[in-house]
Formats: sequence, C-alpha cells, structure tokens
Amino acid sequence: MKITKLEDYLYLIDLETAGIRNFIASYVLKGKEVAIVETGPTSSVPNLLSSLEKLDVKPETVSYVAISHIHLDHGGGAGTLLKRLPKAKVVVHPRGAPHLANPEKLWQQSRMVLGEITELYGAPEPVSEERIIAAADGMVLDVGNNVSLKVLETLGHASHHLSYYDPLSRGIFPGDAAGIYLKEVDVTVPTTPAPLRLDMALASLDKLIDLKPRVMYYSHFGEAFDALEKLQAYKRQLRLWADIAGEGVQANENLEQIARRIVEKDSAMQKAKEYIKTHAVLGETVLNESVQGFIDFVKKYPAPS
Ligand SMILES: [Zn+2]
Repeated sequence: MKITKLEDYLYLIDLETAGIRNFIASYVLKGKEVAIVETGPTSSVPNLLSSLEKLDVKPETVSYVAISHIHLDHGGGAGTLLKRLPKAKVVVHPRGAPHLANPEKLWQQSRMVLGEITELYGAPEPVSEERIIAAADGMVLDVGNNVSLKVLETLGHASHHLSYYDPLSRGIFPGDAAGIYLKEVDVTVPTTPAPLRLDMALASLDKLIDLKPRVMYYSHFGEAFDALEKLQAYKRQLRLWADIAGEGVQANENLEQIARRIVEKDSAMQKAKEYIKTHAVLGETVLNESVQGFIDFVKKYPAPS
C-alpha cells in the first residue's frame, strides 16, 4: 500500500482494492486522536489496517471513521474496520445510517447493479447502532491539535451523501460529489449513476465552491490542486452532459447513441476514454452508468422550455 504524506497531519492511503492502484483512497488525519475519511470496501480493509500500523496509529486512538456515503467502494468496509478500532464511531448521513446497521439490502442491490464487481469489493458487515453518528450538515469532528473536519451535506450523487472540509489545508474530501479525478490525464469523469439528482448535485458543487477550497482530496483518486477550477469544470461538464442527454431523449436516442455523442463533445472524455477503457472497474461501469443517470434524470425532470 502506498502511503503519501500530504500535510504534517494528513496522509493518503492507496487502498489498492483488488490490486488496482490509484482507484480508491482513504485519508488519515492525525490530531491528538485520529480521523479516517472513507474506508473503501470490505476486501481492502486489511490493507487499510496495515497502513494504519505503518503510520503508527494505535487502533484505540481512532475516534471517527467518516464516510461520504454507503456505496461499497466508499463505506462498505466500515463494519469490518470497526471491529478492529475499539473506540471509533462511523460518521454518515442520517439516511445512510440504517443501511450501515443492516447492510443486507445494500449488498443485494449492489449485486444487482454492479454484478461481478461486488465480488472485488466484498460484502459489508453491519455496524452496531450505538457506533453510528448520523451527522448533520455543519457538524465538526474535532480530533485535537487543531485538526478537525466539517461535515457538509452534498446530495445529488446519492440521497445520503456527505463531503468533509479540512479548514487547515482548505481541502475538500468530496466523496463522489465532484466526480472521479484521473490524475494521469488531469480530467474528471462524472460519477452520476441513477438515481441522480442533477439539480442537487449542482447545488452541492456550488456549496463546495463557496468554501473557496485550495485542494481536493478525491476518493477516486488522490490529492489535486486548483480545487476551484476543478469544481467549476465539473459543473460545466455536468451541464454539458445534461444538455446532450436532454437532446438525445427528445430525439429518441438510446443509451449508446447518447453516450457516443457525450464522448464526442466532451473534451475531458476524449482525454479519459483510453484510460477508462483499460481500467479493470471503470471500463465496465462508469460511462454507461453515468450517462444512464442523466437520461433518467432528464426524463423525470424535463428542463423547462
Ligand atoms: Zn457512490
């Protein structure tokens, strides 16, 4: 597992889930106590635990395991991880909390939607209710020595999505609210599966932009500067996709046709397409699923003409 020190108190762990590098990140914030942002899926929890050991983090010093949302690649490992962190509580949006306590339905739905990819992630284990913090917007997670995280409700990608803000570095942990950042080609790719709420996703981006952040800490993947520019570019990208999906739906185009036009017209997708095609997980899912999210959204909420 590659561990990268980003700040004196902040580390990026490449979870290398299923052996895939630069795909799923966890972040460790060390104050007097410790906070972890994102667990990744169950299958790579051993990698996370060995990274904590390398960072000399004692299990009993971890107070918070903050997840952006319950999708398997972000919070799926919470139950398994908590078994090894005796004092930690999981921080999650209130609408995500019941699924952490009782993950069976989440697992079944994930298997339906993601198919074989779920086998790379592993089944989530339950988190006992007294160890779940259903977090409200604005809540502050303080781990001492001036290190803290502010909870930001950022719906859109999911109806239960949170981002986190680190005031010391003016950094945002956006979960899936700001797309997948591909460092190799320096562009973002939308993470917008159905049921996408585009209106809420755009409002969430405005909320992140208002913080005037300096740096992004993407779950997919890694640290990226020019945060404001990246958030604004992502907003433009979502609008472009929505326009193309709207036209496509009007013209009775199918998913494939709409996806093809999106790739043609979105310069970021031009840069990303080769990388995505050869990626073990993204290749299978990301483009069609994200386009489907837009199609469903524009059908359900047609733009006022
Ligand atoms: Zn997600």
